[in-house]
Amino acid sequence: MKVQKFIFNDFREITYLVYDEKSRETVIIDPGCNKDSERKRIVEYIEKYGLKPIAIVNTHGHLDHICCNKFIKDKYNIEILSNDKELDNYKMAATVADFYGFPFEESPMPDKFIKEGDEIAFGNSKLIVFETSGHTVGSISLISPEKEIVFTGDVIFQGSIGRTDLPGGDLDVLIKTIKEKILTLPDETIIFSGHGYETTVGEEAKNNPFIREMLKDED
Ligand SMILES: [Zn+2]
Repeated sequence: MKVQKFIFNDFREITYLVYDEKSRETVIIDPGCNKDSERKRIVEYIEKYGLKPIAIVNTHGHLDHICCNKFIKDKYNIEILSNDKELDNYKMAATVADFYGFPFEESPMPDKFIKEGDEIAFGNSKLIVFETSGHTVGSISLISPEKEIVFTGDVIFQGSIGRTDLPGGDLDVLIKTIKEKILTLPDETIIFSGHGYETTVGEEAKNNPFIREMLKDED
């Protein structure tokens, strides 16, 4: 399984191509390419490496993570997978985009809902869905059982955690999620977040100031 990342749009959102090396089947996580030049970059990469996109997976429905859903869906004729608790975010995204003055092509509603424990198979690889709410009500993370890798969307970042001041955000829930779903993964697990640099579970448990703070009572 290979991971290719792209930094797209004014929010510096990270879009991931996750592909099976043999079959070239590819899952596209959070397509955020909203400029023509960005769309050209991802399409060229897909063509150059002979990748075969099979699905779009959205970790959550915030505008910077779904603004290229329509383009990718139409181009490759593939489905959008998301958690059903995120529907309000898809519906609100255009209004929020207007507010930010963010160029936004409205996303189609998800074609298929995914929930805790579901598997997304591509070639000989797969990703397992983990519900990780707190940043939004229906945020999901994706775990690779074959490699120690987790895609967390905006749940956790290197040195930070997801914001909880947007609709559906809840700090207590986010803390519970991070403690129970992220920090319980093996220390070596690589975290690929929706923004910023990649890190590991062990590194964040040790150095992330927000996590240090939330673990203080337990030390
Ligand atoms: Zn977000």
